[in-house]
Amino acid sequence: MLRRKPDAQPAWRIYLKANAILLTVVHFTALAGVLLSGWSWTGLALAVTVYYVRMVVVTAGYHRYFSHRSFRTSRVFQFLLALGAQSAAQKGVLWWASHHRWHHKYSDTERDVHSPKVRGFWYAHIGWIFSDAWNTTDPRLVPDLYKYPELRWLDQDGYQLLPSFALGLAFLLVGGTFGLVWGFMVSTVMLWHGSFAINSLTHLFGKRRYATSDDSRNNWVLAILTTGEGWHNNHHHYPSSAGQGFFWWEIDLTYYVLRLLAMLGLVWDLRRPPDDVLAGPLARRTRAEPAGFASAARSEASREGLGTLPGFPLH
Ligand SMILES: [Zn+2]
Ligand SMILES: [Zn+2]
Repeated sequence: MLRRKPDAQPAWRIYLKANAILLTVVHFTALAGVLLSGWSWTGLALAVTVYYVRMVVVTAGYHRYFSHRSFRTSRVFQFLLALGAQSAAQKGVLWWASHHRWHHKYSDTERDVHSPKVRGFWYAHIGWIFSDAWNTTDPRLVPDLYKYPELRWLDQDGYQLLPSFALGLAFLLVGGTFGLVWGFMVSTVMLWHGSFAINSLTHLFGKRRYATSDDSRNNWVLAILTTGEGWHNNHHHYPSSAGQGFFWWEIDLTYYVLRLLAMLGLVWDLRRPPDDVLAGPLARRTRAEPAGFASAARSEASREGLGTLPGFPLH
C-alpha cells in the first residue's frame, strides 16, 4: 500500500519557496509587460485565443491522457502531448499525473493533495504546488507512464520547463515584445489560474449530480472557461471518460477536439461512461451538501473509473 504524509507545513514556509517566488515574478512580469507596452484589445484577444488553444492541450494531455488514460494514441503523439502540456509550465507529465491520481484516490480527505474543504481555498488553488510534501514524483503511482524513457527525461527538474521556454521564444521571434507579453506571458498566467480553479473552485461551487464520496461539483461557467473541466462532479463519478460533459448540453471543447483528432486517426478508443454509470447513483441534493456527506462510500462507478488505469492501485 502506498503511504504519503499529508502536508503539515505552516503556510508562511510554503509561500517562501523558490518556485513560489518564481511564479510570483512571472505574474508581476506579465503585469509589468502590459503596463509598459500599454493596454491593447488586440493583445487581449490574442491572449484569450492562445489561452483556449493551450487549455485544450493541457486538459487533453496532462489530465485526460496522462492522468486518466481516457483514450489511446501512438508513442510519437504521446510525446507531442507531453511537450504541449509542459509548455504550460505545470511541471512534468509524470509529476502532474501522479499527484492527480492521488487526488482522485483521496479526494476531500486529510490525505488529499489539494482539498479546499480540508486545507482552504488558497492552499488548494496554488499553495500545494510549492509544498515539500508534493515535490517529488512517485513512480508507483504512474507505472504505465514511467516505463517510457522519453517521459522520464522530460520530467526531470532541468528539462521540465524546456517546452515553455521554447514556446516563449517562438512568441518573441514571431511577435516581438507584443507577442511575448500577450501571447505567452499573459496567456500563461491565465492558464495557471484556469487550471488551478479546477482544484479549488470545482470542489466548492456548482451542482452535484452524482453521489461521489468527495465534494466535486458541476459548474457550467467553469466548464466554458476551462474547455470542459468544469463538469468535475461528472469527472469524479467516472474519471476514465474522455468527455467530461456527459450530455449534449454540457459543453466540453476538449472532447470535441479529441473527437476531431480521432477522425484524423491521431487518437483512438475514446472512452465514454456506460449507460448504467450515466444513470447514477445520483446525489440526494444538487446544491450545498450537509457536512459529513463526503464520508459516504465511494460510488462503484468512480472506483471502476480509477481501476481501469493499468497498474493503478485502488487500495
Ligand atoms: Zn477533483
Ligand atoms: Zn481527474
